[in-house]
Amino acid sequence: MDLLFSQFLTLPDTNVTLTIEDQVQMDELRQAPGFERQCPSLLGYTRSRIVKEGQWKHSIGILGARLAAALKGVCAHEYAHAWLKENLAPDRVIDRDTIEGFCELLAYKLCESLNLTRELQSIRRNGYSRGQIDLFIEAEQSYGLPTIVEWMKHGVDERLNRDDLDRIRRTQEKEARPARPTVLEIPPAPAPTPVPEILTLVGISGTRSNRLALINDRAFAEMETGRVRVGGSNVAIQCLQIRAGSALIQVVGSDLPQELRLKVPPADGTPSRSPAGSPSQEQEPNGEHSPIRD
Ligand SMILES: [Zn+2]
Repeated sequence: MDLLFSQFLTLPDTNVTLTIEDQVQMDELRQAPGFERQCPSLLGYTRSRIVKEGQWKHSIGILGARLAAALKGVCAHEYAHAWLKENLAPDRVIDRDTIEGFCELLAYKLCESLNLTRELQSIRRNGYSRGQIDLFIEAEQSYGLPTIVEWMKHGVDERLNRDDLDRIRRTQEKEARPARPTVLEIPPAPAPTPVPEILTLVGISGTRSNRLALINDRAFAEMETGRVRVGGSNVAIQCLQIRAGSALIQVVGSDLPQELRLKVPPADGTPSRSPAGSPSQEQEPNGEHSPIRD
């Protein structure tokens, strides 16, 4: 799970207690006073609390005695709840169905990577998120997971908009956000999701006529200009052209375009051609612009 998502988000790890519960324990827990029902799933729960100065502890319970395949999706869902607790600012308001949709998306991505087709169907049918999961799957295919993660953290809307999914790219610029008040009960801002230290083409998505390039933490259409996070700071870039396995971009204020290549070539193996004079010819194909990962 960490391997699958580590490029986009860091799931809580050492601060999670994971227990397998039986049905009786689950039922007792739900009826116990003070049990905060965060999640409509009957198959798992997450309880999160701050132990000291912004450090979270999560208790995750999973209903056992089920097929291993079914447990994996529930695990991913509950870990996603824990991640949200740690990573959403207190002033980020998100509709409850949308929270569930995001958690189901991570479950869906995990099951997809493990080829668990029955689980994929059950995620789409279970109704936890009242349809938001379908929008999340569509958004993931069109805009990529980094855009979704960014929207969860800084989006301007409370839920994904069925009629205008493109609004997922509307986020509050971090710089424009008011400083958070220093109140003891509010944990300090969590460490931001790691982004590459250099400009990196993370992926290309969308249809041939409407491609999007995922560069560091943001998706770009052709000729679109925007800021991306690079290491600890921001860089404004314009995406000039999106090709089969690369994107031609230009840092705003610089004269030279540069070509960012995907680390892994596209499945159809189409080689991307560089225009004469493109600086890409001086670069190792898989070298300088590859993401740095453990
Ligand atoms: Zn849930």
